[in-house]
Amino acid sequence: MIAMKTNEIRQTFLEYFQNKNHKIVPAASLIPQDISSSSLFTVAGMQQFRPYFIGLRDPFKDIHPGLAAPLGTKNVATIQKCLRTIDIDSIGDNKHLTFFEMLGNFSFGGYFKKEAINYAFEFVTKILKIAPEKLQISVFKGNDQIPFDEESYQIWKALGIKEKQFILGDQDDNFWGPIGEEGPCGRCTEIYNQGIEIWNLVFNEFYQKQDKSLEPLKIKGVDTGAGLERMTLITEFPDCQKQNKTIFDIDTFLPLIDYLKSNATYYEEKAGRIIADHFKASIFLISEGLAPSNVEQGYILRRLIRRIVKYQNQISLKQNFETELLSILQNLYGNYYPEILNTDLILKIFTEEKQKFAKTLQRGLKELEKMLDQNKKEISGKEAFYLFETFGFPIEMILEEMQNRNIKVNVSEFQEELKKHKEISRIGAEKKFGGHGLKNDDIIGKENQKIVKLHTATHLLLQALREVLDKNITQKGSDISSEKLRLDFPFPRKLTPEEIKKIEELVNQKIQEGLEVTREEKELKQALQEGYLGVFMMKYPDKVTTYNIGGWSKEICAGPHVKNTKEIGPFKIIKEESSSAGIRRIKATLTSN
Ligand code: ATP
Ligand code: MG
Repeated sequence: MIAMKTNEIRQTFLEYFQNKNHKIVPAASLIPQDISSSSLFTVAGMQQFRPYFIGLRDPFKDIHPGLAAPLGTKNVATIQKCLRTIDIDSIGDNKHLTFFEMLGNFSFGGYFKKEAINYAFEFVTKILKIAPEKLQISVFKGNDQIPFDEESYQIWKALGIKEKQFILGDQDDNFWGPIGEEGPCGRCTEIYNQGIEIWNLVFNEFYQKQDKSLEPLKIKGVDTGAGLERMTLITEFPDCQKQNKTIFDIDTFLPLIDYLKSNATYYEEKAGRIIADHFKASIFLISEGLAPSNVEQGYILRRLIRRIVKYQNQISLKQNFETELLSILQNLYGNYYPEILNTDLILKIFTEEKQKFAKTLQRGLKELEKMLDQNKKEISGKEAFYLFETFGFPIEMILEEMQNRNIKVNVSEFQEELKKHKEISRIGAEKKFGGHGLKNDDIIGKENQKIVKLHTATHLLLQALREVLDKNITQKGSDISSEKLRLDFPFPRKLTPEEIKKIEELVNQKIQEGLEVTREEKELKQALQEGYLGVFMMKYPDKVTTYNIGGWSKEICAGPHVKNTKEIGPFKIIKEESSSAGIRRIKATLTSN
């Protein structure tokens, strides 16, 4: 028998759940339509169903009943296109992609653990034909807030799962959600095969509030997500681990990889995988009407295309590869996703961005060489900004190039330049479209106040990181909008929820203490002797401005800052994530801003 491949698994999944009284619902857009969405892209199938999980909407009224559920339904299934930038640094390994499809079945108060686990088990063992003894099952082991998931464990045992097949997971692995600052969440149980997580079954029972406290949800919900590409991998290659087969060997990748192999002079596996992955992601984004730009989703698309160009150069891939590569992609996906068949428009946008960057990449590299001739061991933030603005080098690419050559870049000065630039173009845009000059100045004044508060909060956060994690932590980059702050710092691993909580509490404590903020001009040498800290790799003039927050935080910084920490108001960490290898990123906000 020939093993099932992508198209067939998609089809079989939908049929299976239709037969179990689920309504098949179309996928949501890759770009969330809900303006309050806390992620730039759709990262999971459940996102479009959030209102049903928290009881804001009634699925009986909204989800038009089909043949499978003539009386309305609480149970739905989807195939959801997803994009996860958080996994971008993992591309090239055996199981991660930026763009992938997630198969999911959901219930908003219809069924719960028993049915959900039975469905998933039946699908994996009877339809994908994976032997039950080749599965590993993870179950939440319990903590001081939420107990061990005994119920799921017993259901799996009744299905014949043996003691040695269980993995007891903690909060990180077996408690899912919420996406963003608040939302539905709960314990989950996962199905693994050959060390690869295939399917995650989340049982939504709680609503996590902004302050991280949990409230029980009125209805208990089921939210499951299975990676289609991973399912194809284990079905097509039941011994993938031993055979050394990866997600890039499945039917929806192999033709892309083969093309790249035979059209590159210096093919490298990792570069080929990144190009194939990013190309797929870019084409799907463009097919939804997105164009490259300098903000938000458009910027991610720009980065994806620019990374493709970089790797194209690296392996000397044929110049106009995209025409043939797109046609291969269309053969693979066009039947199910007709939006990617809009060849002319897609190629126009892709090729334009590619060419623009390819040209400037060459010029920019030359310019860079020139700078290095004069500059030796370091390039300033202004110079980096010049490369960024004139040649469109994304900052992470500048850093990558520099790292290869052992040269330092003044990142914080670069960020300052970027902020100035953003501020100027934003004010320009407001003036242009706002009409009422006075009102605009007012708005800008208020926005600036918010930015100043977030700036001082950034200093407090930095000091809290030093107290809680490591006294040597320095800032590697920071960005402040009027809504939130972002701080990057070197640290080798993910922070634990306890650490995050401690850091957040410490910052709030210092805000409540009402510490005075004092500004002084000093000789650089004196400032350093007095324990003032600067920014990682930053070059300072001889005379510097220093900010001292109640003797607790001492930084060399141009400001401006608030006069007293009381002005800042409650501080909240929204997210802790990886920014690049060895660098963590914290995003935080002020709830009264
Ligand atoms: P992992 O730990 O392997 O990164 P995850 O915990 O991030 O997975 P979930 O958020 O639970 O995964 O997503 C549900 C399912 O989607 C996973 O079980 C997996 O099959 C699939 N999946 C998640 N991330 C990716 C990815 N980057 N590429 C391909 N499939 C993925
Ligand atoms: Mg993941």
